[in-house]
Amino acid sequence: MTGKQIIAALVAIIFLEKGTVEKSRCLGKVAVHMVDKRDYYEILGISKESSESEIKKAFRSLARKFHPDKNPDDPSAENKFKEIQEAYAILSNPEERQKYDTYGHNRPGGSPFGPGGFQGVNINIDDLFGGGFESIFGQIFGSSRSNNRRKKGGDLLVRHTVPFQSVYDGLDDEIEIEALTSCYNCNGSGSRDPNGTRSCPSCNGRGRVQRIERVGPFAQQVVSDCPSCNATGTIVTNPCKSCNGAGKSYQNKKIKFSVPQGIASGNRIKISGQGEPPRGNIGENGDLFIEIEVSDHPWFERDGADILMALPVNYADLLLGTTVTIPHIDGKELQIKIPPNSKPGDTIALPRRGLPHMRSSRGRGSVTVLLKLDIPKKISRSLKNKLKELKSDISNPLSLEDSIIEEAKNRRGK
Ligand SMILES: [Zn+2]
Ligand SMILES: [Zn+2]
Repeated sequence: MTGKQIIAALVAIIFLEKGTVEKSRCLGKVAVHMVDKRDYYEILGISKESSESEIKKAFRSLARKFHPDKNPDDPSAENKFKEIQEAYAILSNPEERQKYDTYGHNRPGGSPFGPGGFQGVNINIDDLFGGGFESIFGQIFGSSRSNNRRKKGGDLLVRHTVPFQSVYDGLDDEIEIEALTSCYNCNGSGSRDPNGTRSCPSCNGRGRVQRIERVGPFAQQVVSDCPSCNATGTIVTNPCKSCNGAGKSYQNKKIKFSVPQGIASGNRIKISGQGEPPRGNIGENGDLFIEIEVSDHPWFERDGADILMALPVNYADLLLGTTVTIPHIDGKELQIKIPPNSKPGDTIALPRRGLPHMRSSRGRGSVTVLLKLDIPKKISRSLKNKLKELKSDISNPLSLEDSIIEEAKNRRGK
């Protein structure tokens, strides 16, 4: 290992102790870095003289081939995809490409992606056919002035309740939230006039500061947010009156969104770009997540796309059989045929009358109806007398002990 690699590894280890979920990913990545890091040109299968458009073409065709969506059964494709992305991130950026051409993988200052190394980016497979991926890579390094890893504003989470019926119908809905938004008065700059800001002297406008820390015999490079400018890289000398120089303020905004059919409580709908603005207004907004809570149905319980209900039925209807109809979520009446000699606890299945599956063409779940014996709370004196007369006719002809034994046999399925 070279000296630079040792420092990179140490920095990564410091990072590991601080992080939580990132830990294992980081460790894996560092190991890969040190064992075999292939040449970026070789990864993309191009020469050192390739033009920008040749680099883009090579990336696009390889990325399409190794996109995880296209290779769901091949776990190695994901690493390959990430490797291609990393090579493209460097070679598509003229400044980074030049550094790579000069120093290779051992450039001064450690990994250009920060202590954690390259983390991969989410690219929609459709974007590989259009040009949607370019802006994603354009933001990885940004301009040198805002060389700051945190380019995205904070994500927001709100909870929202929808009626049960929207699980069947889907729903176009709207919420109003109070969220931190770019100040309209200063357009997010925090400054009263365009000349009211200057580059932060502590970090030279980079927003991040590096320092060397000593632990035992080792010197470690530590990178952190600049405390003087709150990682924005600029200092406001003439603050905006509306936001006191913060560049953002709380405002009410209305968000329209659609709730897909089959949604369940706890599902989150992502609204890209509707989260908080980035620090210093440079970069992209965070995302808004709407966590859905589905209201209870007056009588249905839900199990995914299947629904269950209990139906109270009187003794005569259980014995003689009947058909009952009730209104249903699909607008057509639900017809429940109770066969003669039914018992409380019997179930009747109505396939394909349940809820739709979310984002799937698997059709609908089923309705299960559980029969319950409906015992009236109060009966009239005349009905009481009639029942007394009927009692001997409807009693089990077997002796009590034999009827208990028969019931046990039925219950045990013998
Ligand atoms: Zn302002
Ligand atoms: Zn600063």
